[in-house]
Amino acid sequence: MMPPTLYLSRLLPEPVMAIVRERFQLVQEPLDTLPSPAALREGLCQADAAIVTLGDRIDATTIHAATRLKILANYAVGYNNIDLAAAQARGLTVTNTPDVLTDATADLTWALLLATARRIVEGDALVRSGQWTGWSPTQLLGAEVSGKVLGIIGLGRIGQAVAQRALGFRMTVLYHQRQPITAATSPQKWEYRSLHALLEESDIVTIHVPLTPATHHLIGARELSWMKPTAFLINTARGPIVDEGALVEALTKGTIAGAGLDVYEEEPALHQRLSPLPQVILLPHIGSATLQARVQMGLTCVTNIQAVLDGRPAPNQVPR
Ligand code: NAP
Repeated sequence: MMPPTLYLSRLLPEPVMAIVRERFQLVQEPLDTLPSPAALREGLCQADAAIVTLGDRIDATTIHAATRLKILANYAVGYNNIDLAAAQARGLTVTNTPDVLTDATADLTWALLLATARRIVEGDALVRSGQWTGWSPTQLLGAEVSGKVLGIIGLGRIGQAVAQRALGFRMTVLYHQRQPITAATSPQKWEYRSLHALLEESDIVTIHVPLTPATHHLIGARELSWMKPTAFLINTARGPIVDEGALVEALTKGTIAGAGLDVYEEEPALHQRLSPLPQVILLPHIGSATLQARVQMGLTCVTNIQAVLDGRPAPNQVPR
C-alpha cells in the first residue's frame, strides 16, 4: 500500500525529517524558505496531511481548495495563521504543539528580560568595538531585576513557566488574563490584577497571550502610558499584540525605559524607528529555537497526523 502523502512547508530538523521520510510520501522536497502563497496552496492540494509553520497564512480559499487534506498540523503552539472557522466548517482537523516548547520559550523570555534590563547587547558591542577603556563606576548602568515586580499578561503554560523562574529572583509576580487561576491550580503566590493595575505596578511586563482578535493591540499608547517610566516590556508571544508604532513613540519619549522583542507586527519586516533605539533588544523569533524543542514539535505533529490518518482523535486538536 502507498504511504499517505505529506506536504511539509518548511525543512524541519534532521531527526524529524528522518521520521517523516520513513512514514510518508513527501509531496515535494521541503526548502528552508517560506513558500509563496501559490506554492503553499498547490502543496496542500496534493496532500493527505500537512505540517505548516507560523509564517504560512492558510485562508478559507486554500482550505476549501485542499479537498484531499485531512489534517493541518501547525508546527507551533499559536495558530493565528490558520482560518480556524473555515477549517471547522470543512471538517479539517487543525493541531498545534503545546507543552514541548514551554521551557524553551520561558528560558528565552528570561534571557531577553535580563539582557534588556542589564544592557547585555550594548555591552557586547562596546567590547567588540575596541572603544572600551576599562571598568567604570558609571558605565552601562542597568536596572536591578531581583526583588522587583514582574507583571505577566497571560499566565498559561509559558506564563507560568516564566513565573516559576521568577522565584529564584525573589520577584513579586502579578498576572492578568480573562479568568483568574484558582488556588487549587496555583500553589504559588501569584497575584491577579486588572490590566491597568498590572501595568501601573510592574517593573517588568512580559506578554504570553495568544494572538486573537481580542488581543490584537492589547498593548497600545494608552496601556504604555500606564507603565512606569523605569519599566521594561518583553514580548515573546506575537507581534500584533503590541501596537508597534505606539511602542516606538513610548520608547522615544521615555514613557517606558526599554523593550525586549522576539516578535514583530509585520515580521520579518521591522518598524524602521525600532532598530536605532539602543534600549531595545531585537531577536529573530527564536522563542522555541532549541534543537530539543524543535524536534519534539515535529514529533508532536507526526503523532497528531498519525492519529487522524488512523481515524483516531488528534491529541492536540484546536480549539479544544
Ligand atoms: P496558553 O497556555 O494557552 O496560555 C495563554 C494564556 O493567555 C492563558 O492563560 C489565557 O487565559 C490568556 N489569554 C487568552 N486570551 C486572553 C485575552 N483576550 N486577554 C487576556 N488573557 C488572555 O498558551 P501558551 O502555550 O502559554 O502560549 C502562549 C503564546 O505564546 C502562544 O499562543 C504563541 O503565540 C506564543 N509563543 C511564542 C513563541 C516564540 O517563538 N516567540 C513560542 C511559543 C509560543 P484566559 O483564557 O483566562 O484569558
